[in-house]
Amino acid sequence: MKSKLKVVVVGGGAGGMMAAGKAAQNGASVLLIEKNKRLGKKILISGKGRCNLTNTANIEEIINNFPGNGKFLYSALTNFSNLDLMAFFKERGVELKIERGGRVFPNSDSSGEIVKALENYLAEQRVQILRGVSVVDIKTNGEKVEGVILADSREILGDRVIIATGGASFPGTGSTGDGYNLAQRLGHSIVPIRPSLIPLEVKEEWAKDLQGLSLKNVTVILQTTTGKKLAQAFGEMLFTHFGVSGPIILTISRKAVDYWQKNYLPLILKIDLKPALNKEKLDQRLQRDIVKFSNKQIKNGLGDLLPQRLIMPVINLAGINVDKVMHQITKEERRKIIDVLKGLQVTLIGSRPLNEAIVTAGGVNVKEVNPQTMESKLIKGLYFAGEVLDIDGLTGGYNLQAAFSTGYTAGNFASMLN
Ligand SMILES: Cc1cc2nc3c(=O)[nH]c(=O)nc-3n(C[C@H](O)[C@H](O)[C@H](O)COP(=O)(O)OP(=O)(O)OC[C@H]3O[C@@H](n4cnc5c(N)ncnc54)[C@H](O)[C@@H]3O)c2cc1C
Repeated sequence: MKSKLKVVVVGGGAGGMMAAGKAAQNGASVLLIEKNKRLGKKILISGKGRCNLTNTANIEEIINNFPGNGKFLYSALTNFSNLDLMAFFKERGVELKIERGGRVFPNSDSSGEIVKALENYLAEQRVQILRGVSVVDIKTNGEKVEGVILADSREILGDRVIIATGGASFPGTGSTGDGYNLAQRLGHSIVPIRPSLIPLEVKEEWAKDLQGLSLKNVTVILQTTTGKKLAQAFGEMLFTHFGVSGPIILTISRKAVDYWQKNYLPLILKIDLKPALNKEKLDQRLQRDIVKFSNKQIKNGLGDLLPQRLIMPVINLAGINVDKVMHQITKEERRKIIDVLKGLQVTLIGSRPLNEAIVTAGGVNVKEVNPQTMESKLIKGLYFAGEVLDIDGLTGGYNLQAAFSTGYTAGNFASMLN
């Protein structure tokens, strides 16, 4: 039987659009309210404008890529999996391609195509859309939702309300953390919000001077000043004017931020520039270069081994006289160079601010939300979808998949009579 319910969806991002479309598909009368003039602004900037919408990993692997409450997503990912999401877009004429690490992108490399497909879905399902106005409160009778209140004081009645207001990062996209206040006023607890997938700041000036240098196929280890290992990642990183960024830095950043929640101490980042070679092999390699460039100054003799801009920092950190020629390098100096190559060390003194994070960790406490339906356990008829929840995944398309899966689930159950 078709639902006759009125469902109000707050927020027209990935989660909200999917929720609205699905609820309308189930027959509900749906109103989507988006504070911006246009929908899906964060989708547009996602994946550097290319939108890494999901990943080909299986459900278990997807869950393992959520340091923040992955298990909560199990039902939602089963209800609407990555395969369902890919089929959804393909049915709407979006050709997809798979890149390194199972990352899925539109063939066109254009996030605009994803937003367009979602807008078409909303039009197809006759979702009513109210743009350019914020929801400032949710109306309830203490137990059950009754509707929403807009910034212009209008009241809109509804049987069900889905909060899909996103996180609090990149506020220019409209995600300014409103959902946390809306939920808190209804009695929900909010797990403290903090940046996740965020670049990190370093102390050393020489490292900042390397801004723009990108390193591929390196291993980074995040550790405390007492040597306790907190995280490790392999891949690509980048030096910036404040410190370090790039995929593997974003991946380890969550552990760093969590550490700094409790400790006011710096952390150490060790970069293994040659993870494929053990120290012995690396020494043989270095000795070959010493023979090859035997009469060159050391600063001109390491170009086969290192990017040009890293040569001076490595020589300085190894404490070697820069005027030496290659054949003068002693065994002990070789050992020092190798130690630096296998563990280039920088001091991490903090993260960039929340507004620069790819994802917000923290949010609506998932213990107060039914994982099967996304309904609040505190207020009947209130649902959540997307980043407003205390969920956060790594890079690779996981966060958008979570928004789509929770959006689908919230839309599906919010439109059912029970
Ligand atoms: C730079 C960047 C790149 C990213 N790239 C990727 C990627 O490639 N792959 C990936 O998986 N994830 C990526 N992410 C993360 C991903 O985009 C988000 O996790 C996802 O968009 C969250 O979807 P959402 O629907 O929960 O929230 P959002 O997309 O943030 O949507 C929330 C919407 O609610 C609206 N809103 C907020 N408050 C109100 C209110 N009071 N009333 C009405 N409307 C309101 C906002 O304007 C916004 O449109 C990226 C994030 C950033 C910042």
